[in-house]
Amino acid sequence: MNISLIHRKMYLPVISRLAPTPSGYLHIGNAFNFLLTALLVDFQNGHLHLRIDDLDSPRVERSSVEDIFVQLEWLGIEYDSGPSGPDELYTKYSQQLRKERYCKTLEILRDSGNLFACECSRSEIRQLSRGVNYPGTCLDKNLDFLNENLPWRVHVPDHTFVSLKTLTNKIEKINVTQAMGDFVIKRRDGIPAYQLASVMDDIELGVNFVVRGQDLWASTAAQLFLAQCLNDPIFPAARFVHHRLINDNSGNKLSKSAGSFSLKMLQKKNRRPTWIFRETAKALKLPFQEILTLDDLKEVFRSAALQKDGLLTILEQEK
Ligand SMILES: [Zn+2]
Repeated sequence: MNISLIHRKMYLPVISRLAPTPSGYLHIGNAFNFLLTALLVDFQNGHLHLRIDDLDSPRVERSSVEDIFVQLEWLGIEYDSGPSGPDELYTKYSQQLRKERYCKTLEILRDSGNLFACECSRSEIRQLSRGVNYPGTCLDKNLDFLNENLPWRVHVPDHTFVSLKTLTNKIEKINVTQAMGDFVIKRRDGIPAYQLASVMDDIELGVNFVVRGQDLWASTAAQLFLAQCLNDPIFPAARFVHHRLINDNSGNKLSKSAGSFSLKMLQKKNRRPTWIFRETAKALKLPFQEILTLDDLKEVFRSAALQKDGLLTILEQEK
């Protein structure tokens, strides 16, 4: 099925976001995610928001925040809403400013009986779970939520499934019990967990289209489950693309510590954005030789996406 047909059938405009975490310099894997998101949103005449996931204050570095804006500009990626620079982030958009909202929601989830406090140490969990999910040790202990040093977990009952909608509106069932188990929603240090902040932000922005790496597949399950717990009608109906990850030369996942793959380092080596645009096209199995600018990449993407089953088939297989 052709995506333009899907779009015409939809009454809601596509709303998506870029959601970098400022805990290190952006690398080519982030650039690929940003470009693919921008291409897909642009193709559907959607709305793109920049959301910076800076809730994890101990890991956030000012230089990494600045790097996000520098690299978006370098790549020429434009977004429709969100902070225009670090100052606007800190004064208007930061997740730090929304902490109270997250905490209120934690209380709502707690009062509805979805949560339990957990006193297990990391090593106890590691031993008991044997590398799989949390073994449920504290589920029935009724530990005091007011004990500030205890993380809170969401209980995911046995055989809990969520429905995930793909780019072409196919429905896939994910077993949340298997994918996540009883996951942490308030961390030991009191910070609301990424899963909660992410889904709450997406809900408030009205996000209905998410493009993320395959490594976030389990997180998607957790977030769809939380949206259900929060009785949100929009996010569970969102479409998802889980794309493959760009690996380093030895096939390992890139991390922000992988300095040689950071965009900053590429610039030092005088690489031009053209190189990234071509790498993105290659990763999507698109013709890349003629691409010089982001507009060229958009054009190549558009004509592939308009072909019956062309690009969409590639993206559908990715998860
Ligand atoms: Zn426990």
